[in-house]
Amino acid sequence: MAHAKEAEIFNRDESKVNWHDKALWFVRNKRDKAGSNVKGWEELRNLASAIKANVLSNLDNYLVQFEENAKKNGVHVHWAANAEEHNKIVHSILSKHKVEKVVKSKSMLTEECHLNPYLEANGIEVVDTDLGERIVQLAKEPPSHIVLPAIHKTKEEVDVLFQEHLNTKPSNGDPQYLTSEARKHLREKFLKADAAITGVNFAVADTGGVVVCTNEGNADMGTHLAKVHIACMGMEKIIPQEKHLGVFLRLLARSATGQLITTYSSHFNKPAPGTEMHIVIVDNGRTKQLSRDDFRASLHCIRCGACMNTCPIYRRSGGHSYKTTIPGPIGSILSPGIDLKKNSSLPFASTLCGSCSDVCPVKINIHEQLYQWRQIITKEVKQPVVKKSVLKITGRVLANSKMYGFMGKSARFMLKHMPRFMIYSKLNAWGKARELPKVKDGNFDEWYKKRQKNE
Ligand code: SF4
Repeated sequence: MAHAKEAEIFNRDESKVNWHDKALWFVRNKRDKAGSNVKGWEELRNLASAIKANVLSNLDNYLVQFEENAKKNGVHVHWAANAEEHNKIVHSILSKHKVEKVVKSKSMLTEECHLNPYLEANGIEVVDTDLGERIVQLAKEPPSHIVLPAIHKTKEEVDVLFQEHLNTKPSNGDPQYLTSEARKHLREKFLKADAAITGVNFAVADTGGVVVCTNEGNADMGTHLAKVHIACMGMEKIIPQEKHLGVFLRLLARSATGQLITTYSSHFNKPAPGTEMHIVIVDNGRTKQLSRDDFRASLHCIRCGACMNTCPIYRRSGGHSYKTTIPGPIGSILSPGIDLKKNSSLPFASTLCGSCSDVCPVKINIHEQLYQWRQIITKEVKQPVVKKSVLKITGRVLANSKMYGFMGKSARFMLKHMPRFMIYSKLNAWGKARELPKVKDGNFDEWYKKRQKNE
């Protein structure tokens, strides 16, 4: 289904939509405040963008350097061309160690590769340990946001969910009670896990180490207790040197949640004595995106979620309406690159207001890339006949001032005199959720001429 149709489902519950909208706007405001307190914030964004551009231009070299250094540290490095290879590699490591229970900290890459169902089908229990991720896992839903995976759920819904799965008492959505119960439940899982899987926020080429950022310390808890640590990363996660972390860690926390620093920025450089550490580097369409001049900058993304928090469409349509692992503005650039036809409605799920580009810490020209995709999609993907004809006619009307004036006059007449049921019919998508503005007597041109005459 197209994004607009999926968004209709989310929009059925208006109070939830309003609450979702407000909650994300609150995070966006926190981001603004946190950013404005940093001297040279814009310079920091420019620097991050330049570092990422350098990384993409020399990705082959940095990846090889990273692999060499990681191996020197005693880490096993694996390469996966696609999701299938990634899942097989992870499974083979787990099988070698006879692992039955895995704890996993938040990783959008493993979501993208659908690792959980793959491992579960092979008899391995996978428990997501980020609280939001655990909530959506129990609800058998995908995350709806890359930083706040359960942002679409109210605390009352979580209460019911926990009663069902964790045997908690009804608490009327008391966050403190629910969090402490989740902590107890997850502690058990951490203690029994044979292996820990984490994502990677940054992979440092000159040290061969990886950095994982969490607010709950769940990545550390998992990796420190289990004998095997598997870190899964997209190949664009590389940064050249350790000193560059100072740039990205500052930007990431502030842009994501308005925090000054993520609570835990954990550095994993080598396995602890008696344990094994593996890093799986995944392509899965990234090289193809790198080859597209107009879209390669989308690989700068550090997955902060700021473009989602600010996007008026995302805030009022919910992450699930995108039907992709990465929703929102950046997801609407990445997904058409994976399957153009299936995701062809996504670049249109935008007002092109540019707010996403304004907040992006690595200065991706998101709205321009969305516009670019639209031009490709209208040429390469068959458009609905009605949409095509309406746009053709609109194009002609807008190109001819006389026709534009005539159409405006007719529309004003009809809006004034036609019965309401005809104006707010199925054909009027705009009027489905809002009242049309009151019609004025004349257009701007007429008003201006009259004003000139009276002066
Ligand atoms: S595109 Fe920019 S704003 Fe959006 S998630 Fe990525 S880094 Fe953050």
